[in-house]
Amino acid sequence: MIKKILITAVLITTFLLGCKKDGGVGPQQGRDDAAFAIYENSFLEGLWKLDPDQATMAGYHKYDSLLFVPDDKSRDKRVNYAKVQLDSLSRFDVTTLNDANKIDYHIMQNQAEMMEWKVQELKSYQWDPTQYNITGTFAYIVNEPYAPLAKRLRNFYEKMANIPAYFKEAEKQVKSPVAELTSLAAGQLTAGAGIFEKDFADSLKKSNIPQGEQKQMLDRAHTSAETIKAFAEWLTALKNDKPRSFRLGKELYDAKFKYEIQAELGAQQIYNAAVERKKSIHHEMAKLSKKLWPKYFGTKPMPADSLELISQVIDTLSSKHVQPGEFQRAIENELPKLISFIKAKDLLTLDLSKPLIVRKEPGYMAGVAGASESSPGPYDKDGNSYFNVGNLNGPEYNQYILQILCIHEGIPGHYVQQTYANKSPSLIKSIFGNNAMIEGWAVYGEEMMLDNGFANDEPEMRLMWYKWHLRSVCNTILDYGVHTQNMARQDGLKLLTHEAFQQEAEAEGKWKRVTVSSVQLDSYFTGYKEITDLREAYKKKINEKYKLKDFNEKFLSYGSAPVKYIKEAMLAKGSGSSGG
Ligand code: ZN
Repeated sequence: MIKKILITAVLITTFLLGCKKDGGVGPQQGRDDAAFAIYENSFLEGLWKLDPDQATMAGYHKYDSLLFVPDDKSRDKRVNYAKVQLDSLSRFDVTTLNDANKIDYHIMQNQAEMMEWKVQELKSYQWDPTQYNITGTFAYIVNEPYAPLAKRLRNFYEKMANIPAYFKEAEKQVKSPVAELTSLAAGQLTAGAGIFEKDFADSLKKSNIPQGEQKQMLDRAHTSAETIKAFAEWLTALKNDKPRSFRLGKELYDAKFKYEIQAELGAQQIYNAAVERKKSIHHEMAKLSKKLWPKYFGTKPMPADSLELISQVIDTLSSKHVQPGEFQRAIENELPKLISFIKAKDLLTLDLSKPLIVRKEPGYMAGVAGASESSPGPYDKDGNSYFNVGNLNGPEYNQYILQILCIHEGIPGHYVQQTYANKSPSLIKSIFGNNAMIEGWAVYGEEMMLDNGFANDEPEMRLMWYKWHLRSVCNTILDYGVHTQNMARQDGLKLLTHEAFQQEAEAEGKWKRVTVSSVQLDSYFTGYKEITDLREAYKKKINEKYKLKDFNEKFLSYGSAPVKYIKEAMLAKGSGSSGG
């Protein structure tokens, strides 16, 4: 059935493009853009049919009831889809499209190439058992109130039908997996089984579904939970004499960086830039620490070693805590201050018609990050934006960092960026939002606020920001070092504690993360560097007409696109000199 649907999509695409070609009187701007918009829809429709889980998470709920068995046939379908899309894309002349569509074109091309590469080269379905953790989608369906409860529960029920076949196939696919990913998957799946045993059962009770039907649904949920736990046990007991290393290796790493980060520079160049950045930050931090020393230590002699000096000043400043339990109120108090500062300094226009709601992190999200921001999905632009307050205890979350956190997650960070992005009507950019751009903007926003005098130019604030920023910088150094240069555990930990001034526990947690992920940790610094570089280039181009506000607004107006394509548009000849 799925195959048939796919073929229909392909036919429609070919037909539309055929029409365009037959017209053949050279590029006609409006017409190509109109044809391209139609093609975008068929690209997405085809993708959702192929990947119902991704569709559900994107907020597209037509296929919520489907779960595909991860066999060779399903991967062949992905490769075919990718090839068809690349062929369809090649029939458009990208130079005739408008800026927004040009960027979409590049993003779609990248998606299709990445899909092929993942099946044919990365092959993580063999060595990364966390790929088979499908419990997240089920959790989303049962917990997110996007549709009436009974409807969501019935989709959940139907989706469960393929769970036994799914894990039977997964056992066939897993070969010499990475040990760290294997135990992570076993833990995630064991915990995830609770969604079927508890969340689903609890929600059923609250629903108006008849008793008899409920009983049938509970039976299947029970079988599903047992199947998932059995797979977790199978993973744990797996005889794995020659596990694959958790280190990705340079070749795969470079390719993954290219597809996931989509930066102008390569992984190695970004790594080199991070090493340089660390050096210059240390230099600035030493200067600030020398200046602050007498204020906090009086006549006590300064440590000769500059990293030791910085570390002592940071420790002293970090003791200014916010009481646990007071975080939510502290954040609520902070946001209006950020708004008036941005208005006073005229940094960018804020649209506050959809407010940012500060809330306690919901239970099913717990443990992901200390704080996070959730924005309405691409298919639900009218949804709420939330500032999720998780566990923010410990010296990392002192009074200074709390303010930086509010900038990063909220204003002018993620919340503001998302508000701008939702105004650009591209589904493609919302769905394949570029993480380096998104995180880079939040980091860029922190520095921009400080550069404009936020917190009265206090040297304490600047020093603590540098410490915070070193986290992004060292994430990049660590990730690249571990996956391509064999960086040893003790060297990684030393980098984080000694040179980024992190607590032992935080550094240990980061080491764990770098053994079960790759490239992801590069987004923050890469995006930050690209945006600051772009601003410099833009300044040069615009000259005396340059205004920070114009840059910020114009940059954000392109949506969550890779910075290199925004750059192409912003620096193009004839592109306007004021904000768009
Ligand atoms: Zn962030």
